[in-house]
Amino acid sequence: MNPQEEATDRRKFLQTGLAGTAGIGLAAASTTSVAIADEEKASISPEETNEVDVLVVGGGTAGHVAAIQAARAGAKTLLVERNSQLGGTTTTGGVAFPGLFDAWGRQVIAGIGWELVKESVELDGGTLPDFAKVPQRHWQNQVYTNQFLYAILAEEKCAEAGVQIAFYEFPQAIKKTDEGWEVDCVGFGTNRRVRCKQVIDCTGGAEVVGMAGFSRLREEERQPGSYLFMMGKEHQPGRNQIHRLYVHGADSTNSRTATQANLTGRKTILAKVRKEKKRLMHLQPETGFRESYRIEGETLITVNDYTSGRLFEDAISYAFYPVDLHTKTGVKPKPLKRGVVPTIPLGALIPKDSRDIIVAGRCLSSDRLANSGLRVQASCMGMGQAAGVAAALAAKAGSTPMEVPLAEIHALLKEHGQIIPGQA
Ligand SMILES: Cc1cc2nc3c(=O)[nH]c(=O)nc-3n(C[C@H](O)[C@H](O)[C@H](O)COP(=O)(O)OP(=O)(O)OC[C@H]3O[C@@H](n4cnc5c(N)ncnc54)[C@H](O)[C@@H]3O)c2cc1C
Repeated sequence: MNPQEEATDRRKFLQTGLAGTAGIGLAAASTTSVAIADEEKASISPEETNEVDVLVVGGGTAGHVAAIQAARAGAKTLLVERNSQLGGTTTTGGVAFPGLFDAWGRQVIAGIGWELVKESVELDGGTLPDFAKVPQRHWQNQVYTNQFLYAILAEEKCAEAGVQIAFYEFPQAIKKTDEGWEVDCVGFGTNRRVRCKQVIDCTGGAEVVGMAGFSRLREEERQPGSYLFMMGKEHQPGRNQIHRLYVHGADSTNSRTATQANLTGRKTILAKVRKEKKRLMHLQPETGFRESYRIEGETLITVNDYTSGRLFEDAISYAFYPVDLHTKTGVKPKPLKRGVVPTIPLGALIPKDSRDIIVAGRCLSSDRLANSGLRVQASCMGMGQAAGVAAALAAKAGSTPMEVPLAEIHALLKEHGQIIPGQA
């Protein structure tokens, strides 16, 4: 067959193929291909030892921001994430409507989290809220974000900053050393020993802090988790809200309790599909968990601190959201009084009596009601960035985050686009 005949033959084949799929009502799919570079393949080994300045555990809402910040500040940074993508509850949980970056007509949280949210919305042709307008309801200024795009954009930002990512891995043991920590991680078919100067625990449930033996807090009864899905109509990522199923008793403490929550959520969704006879159009891979362990920190943020907008002396970030406790009967958000913007102190990110370890995200040191407002995504991103700065500076100085002069933390945060509480 000459090349011309070959091309005609291929066209015929494609036409037949397309007609065939159209005939049975299927849309044509396209296939493209890419190969992993040889040098990348060669650098992979199932047994690794890493010497890094900063180890971030958990690449979720707070964690990827912390890692990008630490690396941008010049720290050699490794990010270990037990799932297969970045973003945590924002992406894998499907809660892709981060809030709140603004309060009372002005932006209060910016920096790396905002950079990512803004870029992903722009790339997706979406709409950003107008922060100059004070919305009637708090959720109106949450940013509809395409979870899929967000996750891969976060990977790109990590790569650009020089963050090494290790998916499917989690710490199994942690030991204090004179220089920082030795952390043993496992993945499927892999082992990794990490010697690091600083650890940032962004696991959502302060899992590394617990493993290292520091005190954590947890309620007898926790807020329900939610399984996110879409039934009966198409899910338009970054455009529409998604259906939510409360999973009462959902517990993210360990793989077995999380399995239980996922099985319960998915079984119920299957029953709904059968009962309502609607198509299942979208299903997140796992339950979103609202609450688990929090650290007992050097400072504990009380609901009174939160609702009065206390400006902590060591404030490193703003937070803004109503008090938002979900219970068996639902949620009635309690908005903050006009003008109030809570702050987050560095001390709430430091496990009590610890050195060389800091947390960011919903596991910060706070009472339950304060936590119900502090746990939201923009606040977690703000904490992540602050933890990244504090850990990078501590690693550089051979000190611990609590000993880094606050002015240095503020200056570096500002340089990286963050808004500092109490400063113009
Ligand atoms: C249903 C639901 C609705 C919500 N609604 C809103 C909303 O409308 N607006 C808003 O702003 N916020 C909302 N929130 C709150 C917010 O999404 C979360 O509190 C926030 O995303 C938590 O961020 P995080 O970084 O602390 O944890 P996560 O984003 O959960 O990240 C933790 C990461 O750590 C990883 N990890 C955990 N353990 C380990 C380990 N041992 N080793 C390695 N990796 C580990 C996880 O896989 C995950 O990627 C909602 C939350 C839920 C569940």
